[in-house]
Amino acid sequence: MTNKYKYFVANWKMYGGLNTVNSLHRVIKFLKTFKKSKNIKIVYCPPSTLIRPMSKKLLNTTIQVGAQNCHESQNYGASTGYINSSMLKSVGAKYVILGHSENRQSGETDKLINLKIKSAINSGLKVIFCIGETLSQKKKKITKQILSKQIKSGLNKVKKRKNIIIAYEPVWSIGTGVIPKPDELFRTIDFIKKKVKNNKVLYGGSVNPKNIHQLKLINNINGFLVGGASQQSKKFIDIIKKTFI
Ligand code: PEP
Repeated sequence: MTNKYKYFVANWKMYGGLNTVNSLHRVIKFLKTFKKSKNIKIVYCPPSTLIRPMSKKLLNTTIQVGAQNCHESQNYGASTGYINSSMLKSVGAKYVILGHSENRQSGETDKLINLKIKSAINSGLKVIFCIGETLSQKKKKITKQILSKQIKSGLNKVKKRKNIIIAYEPVWSIGTGVIPKPDELFRTIDFIKKKVKNNKVLYGGSVNPKNIHQLKLINNINGFLVGGASQQSKKFIDIIKKTFI
């Protein structure tokens, strides 16, 4: 990859308790000796319950913390079970993942995601905006149409676009062990970059220490969103190291 920074975003999904936060000491230690540490940005997105303890653990490090979703309103309100973007900011989140396919699958629409993005940006969070086609959309050869629609609706009237990072996550690749073919991935990232112009574009979907050799060669990718493999510090460190070998 030829870009200045590489992002490594860890999406812990609904995993992790207070004791798991301690496992980060391995990553902190690794970064102290890693020669390329100035060229990487690491963002951990744990469940909301761990944002505060993780932010404390990562104080005085370059690793930042993000959330995995937020409510579309910036204000307090009668929304049982939800957390808004300013509440996340107040406990130490600097980023929030929005539009993740697992949330789209449980009913989040492009319009709702757009409202969430606006709210997060207004609260001063950076947004990791996930887009991606399902397997049936890929088979129908409508990937570009789907991505265009997700980008257009998701970013409709969004200000401070520089605070948006796109994560291309083909739904058929998440948690399946299957990754796109290199030339296909290069072309899709290129397509997205032409649509969004100046935003960084990450790839997410089954990134692991075994396939990173292949993925790192795709030189228009600005980094990786890692789910399953980010939950073990050793695997996550391996992915980072191997990106630079
Ligand atoms: C994700 O859920 O964002 C993700 C990339 O998951 P995995 O790496 O497990 O496929």
